[in-house]
Amino acid sequence: MPDEHHFDYIVLGGGSGGIASANRAASYGARVALVAAGPLGGTCVNVGCVPKKLFWNAAHLAEGARLARSYALQAEAPEFRWPEFYQRRQDYIAYLNGRYAEGLTRNGVRLFRGFGQLLSGQRVRVDAQVILQAPHILIATGGEPVRPELPGAELGLDSDGFFALETQPRHVAVVGAGYIAVELAGLLQSLGSRVSLVMRRRHFLNGFDAMLREGLMEAMAGAGITLLPQRQVAGLARDADGLALHFADGESLQGLDTVLWAVGRRPRSRDLNLAEVGVYPDEEGYVPVDRYQNTRVEGIYAVGDVTRAPALTPVAIAAGRRLADRLFGGQPDRYLDSSLTPTVIFSHPPIATVGLTEDEAQEQYGEDSVRVYRSRFTPLLRALDREHPQTTHMKLVTVGAEERIVGLHALGDGVEEMLQGFAVAIRMGARKRDFDDTIAIHPTSAEEFVTMR
Ligand code: FAD
Ligand code: NDP
Repeated sequence: MPDEHHFDYIVLGGGSGGIASANRAASYGARVALVAAGPLGGTCVNVGCVPKKLFWNAAHLAEGARLARSYALQAEAPEFRWPEFYQRRQDYIAYLNGRYAEGLTRNGVRLFRGFGQLLSGQRVRVDAQVILQAPHILIATGGEPVRPELPGAELGLDSDGFFALETQPRHVAVVGAGYIAVELAGLLQSLGSRVSLVMRRRHFLNGFDAMLREGLMEAMAGAGITLLPQRQVAGLARDADGLALHFADGESLQGLDTVLWAVGRRPRSRDLNLAEVGVYPDEEGYVPVDRYQNTRVEGIYAVGDVTRAPALTPVAIAAGRRLADRLFGGQPDRYLDSSLTPTVIFSHPPIATVGLTEDEAQEQYGEDSVRVYRSRFTPLLRALDREHPQTTHMKLVTVGAEERIVGLHALGDGVEEMLQGFAVAIRMGARKRDFDDTIAIHPTSAEEFVTMR
């Protein structure tokens, strides 16, 4: 094998986790190869966080223009030009792809474009041509959307298909109840599409604090989204009126031009030869790892959405960097503790949440030791808009006599930018008293968190 194909570290996957780990390892002087089958930046940059947040910003601005009228700012109703936005968005993503490539080159990481497969515990084949060798190999191949196994499922789009739409859907059904279903339904409605959100249970965002899902369901229904709970989808068909979504109870939703499946994602662990080298994915395809990101084969590691860690970009990045710190940075005990991971759902209004829900805290610590503080108010931003009232909801979950804060949950304007700082305090063990002793910033919504009684 030519010497230029020998490395210290081979990374499979040019997404959030892979790029972060490769760059960090190279910063310690390791010789690193990054194998990338898709565009650099992976899911987050190309078909995830970045295009989604740009859409969310567009929807937020459109909503701001509507709200402006309550401040006697008379502007024309905004017209969203989807095809023009699509082009601007894709140009920005292409710019980011280029920045990632430049960053890798600057850091001395060798980029191999192609699909990587393990040949052994130390060797990787890239497409049919190149064989690379290294004592350390990282699997950071991410995930992909799933579709339900139903007749006509191919007539609908998954989230990748959504981001490829070059014109605006007029009448959409979103099927699902997680982050993606709620985010896509909200931004489409805010940008002028007619939206139905179809979920199989009574609520969406199951597993989140009840205040958040109930408050958001109320806000989304109030904004004009048709919520269809407890509907089992039986199939999708095309007829003279467009697409028809059929339910198990015989009802159907007709005249749709677009159906979006948002029913979850699965790890991209197929065709990597994992089992052949002794890394056995679990029954759902996730790669099992310990807290140091070690798989069961020495020298092979995994991070990000291909593992069972929370499927969030900062988690993949942090795990990838800590692994590089451990392997090449002389920090043998470094690992990622992903408890108390803060997360935001870019719904309308957004949700920000960290730590335990009220129910989880009661289950874990017993009802008597949990004390909960709540607040519900109309934010000043919306105070002049009597026609479209919108409530902000906040909750602190505390435990024990010292009232240590174990959960913080919020739904409302601006909470997406509020959470990061509170997450630091909670990670440091903040108690309710610490919040009370912090001087409020007035007039803001955030001050409610330090004035709750
Ligand atoms: P990925 O980013 O998926 O990267 C994996 C890369 O590996 C891909 O480029 C793939 O082409 C490549 N690959 C696969 N197999 C091979 C192979 N055999 N050889 C070489 N390369 C290979 N997270 C947030 O924190 N905030 C958000 O707002 C947010 N929004 C999201 C919105 C949507 C619609 C989606 C789908 C996800 C969102 N996420 C968000 C989640 C986030 O995108 C993922 O958690 C993150 O991208 C995971 O990073 P990763 O490195 O594990 O995988
Ligand atoms: P989630 O795992 O969040 O949700 C999937 C949803 O699909 C579940 O709520 C489930 O509903 C529903 N579902 C599953 N099967 C069916 C079915 N057959 N019919 C109807 N509904 C079904 O997946 P997503 O794809 O929304 O997101 C994947 C991950 O990506 C998220 O968990 C998150 O980690 C990440 N992400 C993060 C974002 C952010 O940070 N803002 C944004 C987008 C994604 P039920 O609850 O009823 O079982």
